[in-house]
Amino acid sequence: MRLIFLGAPGAGKGTQASKISEKYNLPHISTGDILRNNIKQGTELGMQAKAFIDAGQLVPDEVVINIAGARIKESDCSNGFILDGFPRTVAQAEALDIVTSIDAVINIAVDPTLIVNRITGRRMCVCGESFHVSMGIGKTCTKCGAELYQRDDDKEETVVARMEVYDKQTAPLIQFYGKKGLIRDVNGNALMADVTNEISKVIDDYNKN
Ligand code: AMP
Repeated sequence: MRLIFLGAPGAGKGTQASKISEKYNLPHISTGDILRNNIKQGTELGMQAKAFIDAGQLVPDEVVINIAGARIKESDCSNGFILDGFPRTVAQAEALDIVTSIDAVINIAVDPTLIVNRITGRRMCVCGESFHVSMGIGKTCTKCGAELYQRDDDKEETVVARMEVYDKQTAPLIQFYGKKGLIRDVNGNALMADVTNEISKVIDDYNKN
């Protein structure tokens, strides 16, 4: 299955994509993770992207279109994939249409009043796990033991910019994919396990038909 996970920052796209990726054995493709890895390794791409990410703005379309396009051509994607955080603009969605078809777009809707708390309380691990301070977490990851950190763009001042960017540039994708009959709405305010179940149901229903 070729899936897109759509949603505002803090909707839980990454967390859910990682759970569904494990459950259905589909590669989880996060353009944000790819960009952050490039920043960490100090590549040319990472250096280009850093200023945009730190300001809560989108990295230019042509850059992310190339990254995502190359990734979905890799052999592990031949039976499907989960795109998390791509596309984020109509131009990206149109470019994606040229290289592949999509089976469903999981739109994780979350109450905007929950977003700031979710994001500013988020702590990440290099292994891909994420936690929330309300879970009573320690300094290290319960999965791999590495030290947890806060993403630079998860600070409150940047979150507001990211939410505006989502409203202006990414939310129009709901209509874009709605017209194609691909949107499947999921309640992102629910508990994490319930959201995973709801997404699984969408996938299982699709596979039955
Ligand atoms: P994420 O990890 O998906 O929240 O992405 C973190 C940041 O990476 C975003 O705020 C953007 O600056 C950048 N980014 C990730 N994916 C895209 C994309 N598809 N288009 C443009 N910028 C992106």
